[in-house]
This record gives sequence, structure tokens and C-alpha cells, in this order.
Amino acid sequence: MPDENSLPKMQVTVLGSGTSQGVPMIGCRCPVCLSTDPRDKRTRSSIYVTTPQAKILVDTTPDMRQQALREGLDHLDAVLFTHPHADHIMGFDDLRRFCDLKGGALDIYGSAETLEQIERIFFYAFNPPRKVPGYVHVVPHIVAGPFELGGVEITPLPVPHGAVSTSGFLFSQGGRKLLAYLSDCASVPESVRATVEGVEVLIIDGLRDRPHPTHLTVSGAVEAALAIGAWKSFLTHQTHEKSHVDRMQQLPAGIDVAFDGMKFEFELKMTV
Ligand SMILES: [Zn+2]
Ligand SMILES: [Zn+2]
Ligand SMILES: [Zn+2]
Repeated sequence: MPDENSLPKMQVTVLGSGTSQGVPMIGCRCPVCLSTDPRDKRTRSSIYVTTPQAKILVDTTPDMRQQALREGLDHLDAVLFTHPHADHIMGFDDLRRFCDLKGGALDIYGSAETLEQIERIFFYAFNPPRKVPGYVHVVPHIVAGPFELGGVEITPLPVPHGAVSTSGFLFSQGGRKLLAYLSDCASVPESVRATVEGVEVLIIDGLRDRPHPTHLTVSGAVEAALAIGAWKSFLTHQTHEKSHVDRMQQLPAGIDVAFDGMKFEFELKMTV
């Protein structure tokens, strides 16, 4: 038997756990925005997933460059996009550095609607080959069903988010549901709940206590996490409404608040 350190792993880093304006919010003097607890510094929501075969970024937030520098990212194989809101795509142009590091175009994945909007905004990165090194260049892949990347299966999970549909993503291997990422959703439809039921780790939108038309509240996220039966859940896309410590005290066992720089990993089956 291989020892623990030799087992292949899927590692997850929370790059950002904050809402669209980030925390601290510009010009706000509330106790959370003034907090010195590093867990109260919430950059825009994004995760980074690595397997032995691939390094995958989910969303390119306006904070992407700083997130990449903070976590020492030096290579990407693919980028998944949840939806085309500004707080999830406006770091797109900084993918140019990862194109140079890779020496070619980056594969990006998302729904037809999401990729259409990204192509509209960042038109220069699509279709024609990049003219000079330093330009961003991507190859779009429209995904509507499960696909394989880096030795794991990724299933898009369409969830409602106001005028747009967000793609959540389920990462699984050999039928084992490892991670479900459900950022930016107003609810979790029954079909998605059934798909991710019993997932080992769930990261889910839990914006704030006060209702919001396009995001789950904290109590709504808790309800969804319990219905899904995740072994462990983390709330993301947090506002400045409560500090990390205060929010944690409000949550039941098994449900925590994600924070920037948080990491965890799964052991994968050998797939040689
Ligand atoms: Zn968002
Ligand atoms: Zn504040
Ligand atoms: Zn959004």
C-alpha cells in the first residue's frame, strides 16, 4: 500500500470568499470593515482546484491577480466560469500571464450564455490567434453536461441567480462526490439538490441575513446544506454584515464560513 503522502490528491484553495463589493467595502467604517482579523478580508469569490493532472481556476474576479500572487499560482490548465457578472469575470485579462506561462491558449469552460457574454466583452481574446506574446488567448468550451478534466469529472449545476443562470460545479471521481461549488444562487433546485446529495464538501452562497433577490441568505444556505446532506459545508460570497467569528457562532455543527486562503484536500483513487 502506498503511504498517505503518495496518494494523489485534489486540493482546493478558496481564493476569495466575499461578495461583489469585497470586504472591507470602500469608504465603510463598520467593525467588520475595520477588523484586523485576516478572515474578515474577503476578496471576490473564486476557488482554485488542483489534481495531479490539472490546475483549474473557477472564475477570474477583479481580485484575481492579487489572489494568484498571494497563493503563488504559476500555472493554469483551465478556467471554469460560473456566470458573467463583473465580480466573477473582470480579472479575465490577467489570464494573459497564464497564457505566457503555459506557452499557448487557455481552455475556458462555461455555459453558452456565460461564454457569449465573456466573448462580447473580451472580444480580442477569441478566434484570431494572438498576435504577440503577452496577449490573452483562450479556447472556449461550452459545457451543458458532465466533462472530464484533470482526472476528475465535473458536472455543471444550473442554479437561478436573478436574470442569469449560474453554473455551479460538482467535482467527482469514480462516483464519489467530492466538492460542490454553488456560488451566486437564489435557491437550489430539486434536480441540483439530488445531483449533489451527500457530497463531501459543499461551498455555497450565503450572502447575509437580510433577504436578497438573487442570493441565498445565511439561513437559506444552511437549509440547503442540510437538505443536500453535505458532510461539511462552507458559506461564501459573504458581505460585511458579520465578522467571521460572529458568523461562525450563528452556524450549526458541520457548517462553517469560508475565508480567503482556506485550503483542504481529498485523496483520490489511483487511476493508472
Ligand atoms: Zn458574485
Ligand atoms: Zn463595512
Ligand atoms: Zn452574480
